[in-house]
Amino acid sequence: MAVLEKLNSQQAIDLEDKYGAHNYHPLPVVLSRGEGVYVWDIEGKKYYDFLSAYSAVNQGHCHPKIVGAMINQAQKLTLTSRAFYNDKLGEYEKFATEYFGFDKLLPMNTGAEAVETALKICRKWAYEKKGIIENEAQIVVCENNFHGRTTTIISFSNDPVARKNFGPYTKGFIKIEYDNLVALEDVFVNNKNVAGFLVEPIQGEAGVYVPSEGYLTKAKELCEKYNILFLADEVQTGIARTGELLAVNYENVKPDILILGKALSGGVYPVSGVFADDHIMEVIKPGNHGSTFGGNPIAATVAIAALEVIREEKLAENAFEMGKLFRSELNTYIENSKIVNLVRGKGLLNAIVINDDEESETAWDICVALKENGLLAKPTHGNIIRFAPPLVMNKEQLIDCVNIITRTLKEFE
Ligand SMILES: *Cc1c(COP(=O)(O)O)cnc(C)c1O
Repeated sequence: MAVLEKLNSQQAIDLEDKYGAHNYHPLPVVLSRGEGVYVWDIEGKKYYDFLSAYSAVNQGHCHPKIVGAMINQAQKLTLTSRAFYNDKLGEYEKFATEYFGFDKLLPMNTGAEAVETALKICRKWAYEKKGIIENEAQIVVCENNFHGRTTTIISFSNDPVARKNFGPYTKGFIKIEYDNLVALEDVFVNNKNVAGFLVEPIQGEAGVYVPSEGYLTKAKELCEKYNILFLADEVQTGIARTGELLAVNYENVKPDILILGKALSGGVYPVSGVFADDHIMEVIKPGNHGSTFGGNPIAATVAIAALEVIREEKLAENAFEMGKLFRSELNTYIENSKIVNLVRGKGLLNAIVINDDEESETAWDICVALKENGLLAKPTHGNIIRFAPPLVMNKEQLIDCVNIITRTLKEFE
């Protein structure tokens, strides 16, 4: 194979297989171009993207405003490190903190880094503000959480595939059932050293589990009552995905610490961030924490553009409307379906549960068939398929997608 010869899909797959670590199990499709709600494979076949890079591409593939901002900045200045100031970071920090309603932003790159940052801020706050004895702070997390892949974060995961043989694990986390307020208050009452409660407003990776109405409001109230920080991981649910700018907005909850990533850049660049008010963020002082790339001028410029697109194109409103339509169309199908048990979700973060056990290959086989029919989605856990298209999808496209999905499901009835 000559180096300049264009690869076909099988050759591209073989290269990854031979030279790349096998830390993913991708659907057998090789993408080489994207625009809006569509992606194309090497051979030129067009697909609807129903994963959006795990909700990083909420603004649609290769959004011209975001890509334009990136190219423009890349030709001027890419990286200074935080050893010096750059002329974009402050402007971005002002914009983003006003946008989300917090005093301060700490910029990072990936979601996992932002979660780590939030945990560090929370612990430091616990020792310096709440008065917990050093090294005794506990952070409460939920079963079936997904917060990323670092050693500390997998320490409080209960996914055996993500954890096994990566020990020893980081201490200081207490796991309780998701969507269970009694368990939450119990752990607060019985442990004087709880510093924070880290939660996803909807558990995305676990299979789009939407908690009961009022859960987040009451959890926040309990946090206030016991002087515990409420840490919202909105890396997947944030930035208009669920039909509100943030999923916590449905319950008018303001987290003490807000964690964002993924669509904060519209998927063109790794940009994440942690937001908090001064009385919390002030525990971080020079030298306490950092990142060579965090807050670089490209990231800052890209994030402003990505957030402007959300507002200008009313993507939260569109996700809300399209999501309602999607679930109602699928519910009509499910009434007479033996293969699908239910559809659930908010906005354009949805999932269907396949009527088969978790170890079965049915969900995977359905995703392969969906691919053949021109729509890309992936199982989350076992028998659950997540449907999360870019939020720029219009009604005509959505109906087209519903038809592809229902036609494919019929092959499995
Ligand atoms: C994807 C995700 C992360 C991790 O983000 P990375 O950029 O992959 O490190 C953290 N939390 C949630 C809820 C996510 O969905």
